[in-house]
Amino acid sequence: MKPFYIFNSLSRAVEEFQALKPPEVTLYSCGPTVYLPQHLGNLRAYVFVDSLRRSLEFNGYRVRHVMNVTDVGHMTGDVDEGEDKVEKTARAQGKSPLEVANYYFEQFRRDCAALNLEPPQVWSRATDHIGDMIALSARIIDAGFAYVTKSGVYFDVEKYRGSNRAGRLSRQSLDEQSATQRLEHSADKHSPHDFALWVLDQPGHLMQWESPWGRGYPGWHIECSAMAMKYLGETIDIHTGGIDHIPVHHENEIAQSESATHQPFARYFVHNAFLVGREGAKISKSAGKFPLLSDLGAAGIDPQAFRIFCYGAKYRSEIAFNDDAIRAAQSNLDYFREFARSVPAGAAADGVEAAGWAAEYYERFHGAINNDLNTPQALAVALELIAEAYRRKDFRAWPTLRALDAVLGLDLAKHRESAHAGSIEADVQQLIDDRTAARKAKDFQLADELRKEIERRGYEVKDNRDGTATYQQRRG
Ligand code: AMP
Ligand code: ZN
Repeated sequence: MKPFYIFNSLSRAVEEFQALKPPEVTLYSCGPTVYLPQHLGNLRAYVFVDSLRRSLEFNGYRVRHVMNVTDVGHMTGDVDEGEDKVEKTARAQGKSPLEVANYYFEQFRRDCAALNLEPPQVWSRATDHIGDMIALSARIIDAGFAYVTKSGVYFDVEKYRGSNRAGRLSRQSLDEQSATQRLEHSADKHSPHDFALWVLDQPGHLMQWESPWGRGYPGWHIECSAMAMKYLGETIDIHTGGIDHIPVHHENEIAQSESATHQPFARYFVHNAFLVGREGAKISKSAGKFPLLSDLGAAGIDPQAFRIFCYGAKYRSEIAFNDDAIRAAQSNLDYFREFARSVPAGAAADGVEAAGWAAEYYERFHGAINNDLNTPQALAVALELIAEAYRRKDFRAWPTLRALDAVLGLDLAKHRESAHAGSIEADVQQLIDDRTAARKAKDFQLADELRKEIERRGYEVKDNRDGTATYQQRRG
């Protein structure tokens, strides 16, 4: 097996990945809080996770992937203070929290499908796992790392610090953390650093459950610890999220989990950098205005072009959203698809062996992704493979490209199949070839006449933005 290198935020170094129980890899990703649409910044995080998962699979690993869906307990202040984000939207829209969560979860799944993200084996919704969160909180209390007051169950950060573990991920001292952990309604906390596992005595909160400590609701951090461990075990291989989760959310997940289990919670934490707006500021929902995947569609950009846009930078580098880069990504996507469509049905049919010369491209691509997911380089190699295939007029590069697409996730095989759906009769193919030549020679009158003739023969003709055309037999 070729070594796979990835940057581990725990050690702040690129490490050779070692799975706990190869070939299985357990992967937990902090997922969406379903109170508003996921913007392109959020989607960058999921494109990154998808490319990580596909790269592991490319290397022969079997990935068990769990993504949470936060539908309770995530407060507007991100720490424990403020209003529950889902409830805030519910109040504003005159809906129930469940309706809000269902609506935005559904919208998120549609975006994931449009981006061709492999769905996780488990989508775990916080409100379906309240019992697990209560059980884990009780275990933390039993282990001596949490205590109960009138306002809630709190994690005892001072006690945890006693074993010199707090701040491992963020390298922040407790004093630096204190400002972000200070609370709200909980004057009875032992220390301002302590954070809530379970919140009590908040009658205005719409979603509440019975617990051994009284009616209340879970804190946001305990959700991820409880769900990750439920589905993936007490030590998981890889935990992902955006870099904004390092200082609070992931620190707290580690503290809670490890004080309960006395085992390492995640062997690798892998974080993606931000997508920033034109002015360089992080794209965020609190900024009020944020770009969505559907905005790209309205501008004639295919969702898959956003994948290619993301590959243009390494996951640990910030990327600035801009129209030129998105358009360049679209034209690369057109280039990939055009190649896939033009692979002849017979000559390079599935099962035909790849050209020997293409092996070098496969190796270089593999080397790039195994080098801490160097997607810009991997993308460049895939594009070079196509250019070389055209130069050699050798479509036996297709099986190689199809193999690389397992990581790129552009669904090129589907595009190729749809181009070959219902094989085209030889005389129609001749008309198509003539039309291609006419368009190339800019004889648009002839191209138009041929188009009409092809349509009369029962074919739909679609001229693509990149100058290519698609021909498909009309059904029925
Ligand atoms: P949220 O729904 O706000 O909890 O965010 C979901 C995921 O998106 C988290 O992993 C965040 O770290 C990530 N995220 C949020 N904003 C951005 C951004 N502008 N760029 C990249 N990732 C982001
Ligand atoms: Zn999380």
